[in-house]
Amino acid sequence: KKVIVIGAGILGASAAYQLAVMGAEVLIIDRQDPGQATDAAAGIICPWLSQRRNQAWYRLAKSGARFYPELISQLKEGGEAHTGYARVGALSIHTDEGKLDKIEERARMRLADAPEIGVITRLSAQQTRERFPLLAEGYASVHISGAARVDGRALRDALLHSAQQQGAVMVTGDATLAFEPGRVTGVHAGGHYYPADEVIICAGAWANPVLRPLGIDFKVSYQKGQIMHLQVSDHKDTEVWPVVIPPSDQYLLAFARQQIVIGATHENDIEGYNTRVTVGGMQEILAKGLEVAPGLADGTYSEVRVGFRPFTPGFLPVIGAVPGWSGVLAANGLGASGLTMGPYIGYQLAKLALGREPDLELDDYSLQRAIMGG
Ligand code: FAD
Repeated sequence: KKVIVIGAGILGASAAYQLAVMGAEVLIIDRQDPGQATDAAAGIICPWLSQRRNQAWYRLAKSGARFYPELISQLKEGGEAHTGYARVGALSIHTDEGKLDKIEERARMRLADAPEIGVITRLSAQQTRERFPLLAEGYASVHISGAARVDGRALRDALLHSAQQQGAVMVTGDATLAFEPGRVTGVHAGGHYYPADEVIICAGAWANPVLRPLGIDFKVSYQKGQIMHLQVSDHKDTEVWPVVIPPSDQYLLAFARQQIVIGATHENDIEGYNTRVTVGGMQEILAKGLEVAPGLADGTYSEVRVGFRPFTPGFLPVIGAVPGWSGVLAANGLGASGLTMGPYIGYQLAKLALGREPDLELDDYSLQRAIMGG
């Protein structure tokens, strides 16, 4: 079967990889838009502490986190040494022990249904700082051993590389759908026509114009995120440091070679697809970051990355067939947890494209929601 994947963020890269593993003939077309969410994201995999009550969302996030270890070992067996993933654990920190009681309670409640949470440990302020030495004094924590961090860029590249090793072809270009009444037949890109049995649209924040020629107004909105990378000296073992989840909406992650990532902003009021790094954004990231981790003050600035988190109505992803059309599937709306869910949803898309049963009931994620807007 010939399948074309439009978009090579985490979702498209995952779908293409799985399709290649399943033996499909795969073509990936990506426009390399500045602001690709996956390229900016780094990358907490720890959905179990979320206070969101939406069960359909939690099912996806939980399944996404559970899916990772097997995918990573499969990629490693296939020769991909740099997946950007490490199960370093997470520290949910707070100065209020009562709040930590609640966090611990929530984690323990979810453990029965999600053993991949691992070991839940309550740490004193001193033990917390031993795990992440740059933190301010006074933060105790709940440690979750099964949490992980992933570098979106590295994982995307590993998936795309492995897909290509298994025969997938990748093209850079602006893809538009080719169709006849009721059926998508392929894709136009760079002056070529590529026929396909199935086209999968993984176009993130840019999906609406892809679907518009079919008469569909696809309701995807997006939120800008700025995220800062910096480098600290004096610490040799940063690659094993846990992810830090503070009470604010900002987090801290450590990678190898003394690299620290802090952020991110959540900007809804933005003009177009503008990837400007703003002084206000940097100020917000630094103010919140330094409050939690004053030890970062001596860090060396490396860069700010900017990405657009794609959202569909209800802040819940959509996955599946495009209503009223054959030969075309889409997924979107991975929002702020797309690195967590992307590999799992990409796997489901690959199964759907090849006519196989997905691993979960897809009724809650029907694309109809992004078309009706309700
Ligand atoms: P994208 O990665 O945006 O990819 C879409 C691709 O489609 C782009 O490359 C674009 O060029 C291409 N495209 C669009 N239209 C066309 C066309 N017509 N032709 C060809 N190509 C096209 N998630 C977590 O789980 N944990 C985190 O800690 C986390 N942190 C984040 C931090 C930041 C700053 C940001 C921005 C996001 C974060 N996320 C996180 C969310 C996650 O990054 C996104 O949900 C996810 O990457 C979305 O992936 P995607 O493949 O749907 O879209």
